[in-house]
Amino acid sequence: MMRNGFLIDMDGVIYRGSQLIPGADRFINALLAQEIPFLFLTNNSQRTRRDVTTKLQRMGIEVEERHIFTCAMATARFLAKHKPGGTAYVIGEGGLLQALHHNGYSIVDHAPDFVVVGEGRTITLDTLEHAVNMILGGAKLIATNMDPNCPTKTGTRPGCGATVSYLETVTGRKAFSVGKPSPIMMRAARKELMLTTSQTVMVGDTMETDILGGVQMGYRTVLTLTGSTKREDLDKYAFGPDVVVESVAELGDPGNFLEFKISQGNKEDDTVNDLNAWRLANA
Ligand SMILES: [Mg+2]
Repeated sequence: MMRNGFLIDMDGVIYRGSQLIPGADRFINALLAQEIPFLFLTNNSQRTRRDVTTKLQRMGIEVEERHIFTCAMATARFLAKHKPGGTAYVIGEGGLLQALHHNGYSIVDHAPDFVVVGEGRTITLDTLEHAVNMILGGAKLIATNMDPNCPTKTGTRPGCGATVSYLETVTGRKAFSVGKPSPIMMRAARKELMLTTSQTVMVGDTMETDILGGVQMGYRTVLTLTGSTKREDLDKYAFGPDVVVESVAELGDPGNFLEFKISQGNKEDDTVNDLNAWRLANA
């Protein structure tokens, strides 16, 4: 059988706030039981891998830390590769700080290599002014993600993208963003699972991040309607998902889904394996 695997968004797909989406636990536990490779992909940089794991375990989803990939991790790994042992001024919280430390970065409040922005509740005008002057002084602006807002139980909270836009407007400098839909995070997640492009399925509820990111990478995409995108919104976009489902529960048995919906007709690939198959087929 062909090896396939899933990249899965969490908020709006697995849960809403602290509320489990019915059937999501069954789907994930089936992935675990069938040893189908998967990774949870989140644009929330606030929590650490362990925090996210605990949240999911409390909902009855028995995942481990290795199943979690946050935009904070993607950002820290990208920076460590781009400039090893660098320094960062951070607007953000635990998840981002820990990921940067873990990747050999020092957190400073003077003359950093990078100003790195995530979400958090500790932002003040002083913090922003401080960041502005560092950026104008030569620090590069890095965004963990550009999500403009995030739906909450009581309404909408401003997202990381809003903070980044503020800094961009004041400084006239453009941020580099690592989170979904950036190919940096989308590709790193696939590599983590050791899948090829054509073996990768992205499941998410947001067109601008999950689905756009997947489409750009040539992955198969599944949109769930349990989160931010409504069916009538689909008309507004020049791109679209391969499959639309009411809920992740509708995918049923993940092994069957992969075999019947995904394996067929998915010839797109840019990997050595695929080239070998092509060579053999055309010999
Ligand atoms: Mg989502």
